[in-house]
Parts: sequence; C-alpha cells; structure tokens
Amino acid sequence: MKKIVYFSLRNEEIPTVDAFEKEHPEFSLERIHENLTEENMDRLEGADAICVSQVQELTAAVYDAIKNSSVKVMATRSAGYDMYDVEGLIKAGVRFCSVPSYSPSSIAEFAVTSAMAINRRLPQFVSRAKQGDYRWNPELMARRLQDKTVGIAGTGRIGFEAAKMFSALGAKVIGYDLYPNPKVEEVLSYVDDFDEFLRRSDIISLHMPATKENHHLLNKESLKLLPEGAILVNTARGALVDTEALIEALDSGHLAGAALDCYEFEGSFITKEVPVEELDAAMKKILQHEKIFYTPHIAYYTDDAIASLVGVALEGIVQILNAEDCPTEVKA
Ligand code: NAD
Repeated sequence: MKKIVYFSLRNEEIPTVDAFEKEHPEFSLERIHENLTEENMDRLEGADAICVSQVQELTAAVYDAIKNSSVKVMATRSAGYDMYDVEGLIKAGVRFCSVPSYSPSSIAEFAVTSAMAINRRLPQFVSRAKQGDYRWNPELMARRLQDKTVGIAGTGRIGFEAAKMFSALGAKVIGYDLYPNPKVEEVLSYVDDFDEFLRRSDIISLHMPATKENHHLLNKESLKLLPEGAILVNTARGALVDTEALIEALDSGHLAGAALDCYEFEGSFITKEVPVEELDAAMKKILQHEKIFYTPHIAYYTDDAIASLVGVALEGIVQILNAEDCPTEVKA
C-alpha cells in the first residue's frame, strides 16, 4: 500500500480527503493538521508522497529530510509554487505537482460582489448606520452598474469569468492583456493601450499574476488616469498596487472606493490571528479607511474551490505514482 502524508489539513478539506480515501483504498493517508516543519519532519518516514499547503518557506533541514526520505512526489494545494525550491526537489528525484486553476468562477464572483458593494457605497452606509447616521448623502449616491464601463486587467481564466458576469449584469466591459484571447472577445472589447484602458475604466478589476514587469502597475501616475469616481478591485496580487498611492487617490476624492482582497505584505498575517498593533502602517490605514472594503485573501474561499484544490493535488500524486500522465506536474 502506498502512503501519502497530508500536512496542513484544514477542517473544510476533510470531506474531500474522506472521499479520496474511499475512492482509493490502495493508498493510506496520514492526516496532520500542522504545517510541515523541522518539528514534525520525522512523519515523512515511509511516505511515498506528501501533500502540502505552506505559507512559510520550508527550511533547508526540511528539504534535506524530504530528499533523504522515501518521498517520490510532493503536491502543493495551491496554484503558485514560488515558495518552494522545486528545482532542488526535482534534481533530487522528487517530482512536484500543483493546482494551476481551481474554481475561477469563485474568484470572479467575489470580484463582482465586491465591485457592486463598493459601487453602492455599502461599506460607508453600513459603518455610518452602525454609528447612528441614517442620512442619505448625495456624496454617496451611486450610478448603476449598467451605466458603467468595467475594465478587466488580465483576461485569463478568472478575468474571462468576471467579464462574463459583469457583462451579464449589463455593464460595458473592456479588457487589457499582454496576450488578447479571441474567445474572450465574445464578452468584451480589448483596448491595446494601457493608459487608454485606464481612462475608460469606471471600475477596474485586476486578474493578472504579479511579475517584476507589473510591480505597482497601479501607482501614483497610473491611478490618476482612471476617471473621477473610479473604483479599483484587486483580487489578484497585492504587489500590483502601490498602497500609499491608492490611499492618496481615495483621500483626494479621485477614487470612490477600493476592494482589496490582497495586500502586498500580507504574508506575515494572512490565515493567522494578529492584533492590529502588530500590522505595518499601510495595512493599518487599509483597515481604518472608510472607502476600502478589505478582505483577507478569501476571493477563492468556496466549497467548490476547496474541493478542487484538494482533489486535483491528490489526483496529481496518484497519477505520478501510477506512472500516468500528470497534466499538473511542474517540470524543471
Ligand atoms: P491566468 O494565467 O489564467 O490569467 C492571467 C492573465 O493575465 C493571462 O491572460 C496573462 O496573459 C495576463 N497577464 C499576465 N501578465 C500581464 C501583464 N503584465 N499585463 C497584462 N496582462 C497580463 O490566471 P488566473 O487563473 O486567471 O489568475 C489570475 C490571478 O488571480 C492569479 O495570478 C492570482 O494572482 C489571482 N488569484 C487570486 C486568488 C484569491 O483568492 N484572491 C485565488 C486564485 C488566483
């Protein structure tokens, strides 16, 4: 019987793990709630594969333990794998797989939800009502989504889903991508020039990975190109946005609001309980800002996405151990 050691098990993953065990009686699956660390690396003993979901990087001692163990496959329950030394693992003979895409419509739905919440100024109305202020303020009057242009920046799997949803709600949808996709043109029209794309986007929704080239793509200068009263939605990566410049644009009244599901330096607190005093200055400003709708990287967090993350990661292990074709394997 082949053995999989499953680290960082979360309660919401248990139904899919149970289903996997039923479907694959030829595998034994050891469940560990904690992350893989030097403290528990002895649990690698006798494992053919490990399934992980790390936020912090693994130490050199943990990598050595993996390389010197019987582990032949490591699967991460995430799309990104920049936090792992994949090259080193592959060189040592450990194959690696990830989950390139999981429930793109979950993230797209969240982008649409938060864009609509900001558009109707829900964060302001809700927080003011809680403080006894029930007035209708002309400053907070909205314009209907169907009278707006939504700019989708990055029209891949998630961007395409978001474009379909915004379009179905009656918005005019435009797109910007380094590699325009003709299929996506069914629901949006591309604008080749990024500055022009910004000038036309009443709502801009980001759906591209963070790279060296697009670091702070939304910065002091580019934010100015957005129309007066524009809304920014970021469910992609924090590094795409210069937070200080965004706060300035909100404070000056140029932008009406921002929905942020990601923050550039979220690594130290995301998925943990951390007192506000321990957060950095920009993050404190995000939380206090009335025009910012902040959420802790939960755009993906649906039952469908969790089932897909767990199922696809475990399936990758099965495929590799059974010497079958594994489309999710990361090659050197
Ligand atoms: P994808 O690879 O399918 O699409 C990304 C698109 O961005 C591609 O079409 C690509 O050509 C385009 N692109 C890349 N760099 C660009 C640039 N500099 N300028 C313009 N276009 C560029 O990816 P996806 O599955 O749609 O995911 C999009 C992003 O969503 C991911 O990179 C990730 O950062 C984020 N994400 C967030 C969550 C969450 O819970 N908040 C969950 C999953 C993914």
